[in-house]
Amino acid sequence: MQPNDVVIIATGMPVGPLQTGEQDGPVGAATLARALVLGLKANPVILTDPTNVEIISAAVRSAGLFVYPLEPSLEHPTAACVMPFPIDPAEATTAGAGLIERLRPKALITIERAGANEHGEYHAALGRSLTQWCAKVDILFEQAREAGILTIGVGDGGNELGCGLIRDAVFEAAPNGRRCQCPCGGSVVPSFIPDVLIIAAISNWGTYGVEACLAALTGRAEVLHDREIDLRVHIACAAAGAHNDGPLLLDPGTDAVAAPYHGHILDLMALMVENGADLGGLYRRDKWPWLDR
Ligand SMILES: [Zn+2]
Repeated sequence: MQPNDVVIIATGMPVGPLQTGEQDGPVGAATLARALVLGLKANPVILTDPTNVEIISAAVRSAGLFVYPLEPSLEHPTAACVMPFPIDPAEATTAGAGLIERLRPKALITIERAGANEHGEYHAALGRSLTQWCAKVDILFEQAREAGILTIGVGDGGNELGCGLIRDAVFEAAPNGRRCQCPCGGSVVPSFIPDVLIIAAISNWGTYGVEACLAALTGRAEVLHDREIDLRVHIACAAAGAHNDGPLLLDPGTDAVAAPYHGHILDLMALMVENGADLGGLYRRDKWPWLDR
């Protein structure tokens, strides 16, 4: 990564024509965009379904970045672009080729997004079809891979773009992994194979881990967002219409875990950035005077 290089982030889980997305994905996309700006002077370009643009824009602003249209966002040091990507496959093919040509992205990262299975169908974790509402970012990711650009997937359930790397493990672990609940009769695992897959118990946590690594590598703790920012982003995301998954409420929270608890995960990661992965490092051996008798 050089200053002003573009990283494309794709997120958003469309759950129907009126219900928009969940907070898992948009929150992590927003805080990762912040980390890429603070840590690497990157230009984040966030792609999503047309119904999720408002939610993700709210999340990005709450993470501390301006949201601008594409061209001005590339000129502004602390802005990200949030834009819809086409649902129609032919339009997606044209748009994807145009973005790669114009932006020459250094990496593409997808967070908690459904991906096309062997029949081209997109599914929720339990196998319901989402195809008609999904932006076809898989096409862009395939184009990027053909162009030799790094592709990264972040997921937690097996139906997310990137989980093709662990197809057999998903079949073993997920009840509806091998056979969906829609007429296509295929698996819920997307066909696309990324260069790297980050699996987490909650997808946002996977992106928090990437932020923590960037913070450690750059030696700057602020690259990893803190619990206050995290709560703010969750609240803004919920207020913009993103649900908390399980109970389908607009409460601030992800995957039915209330927002403040995500702050605990961030606190632990911040300790690791500061002290190393061994949290016992908090008590360095030469600072245990109570043992010197
Ligand atoms: Zn299906």
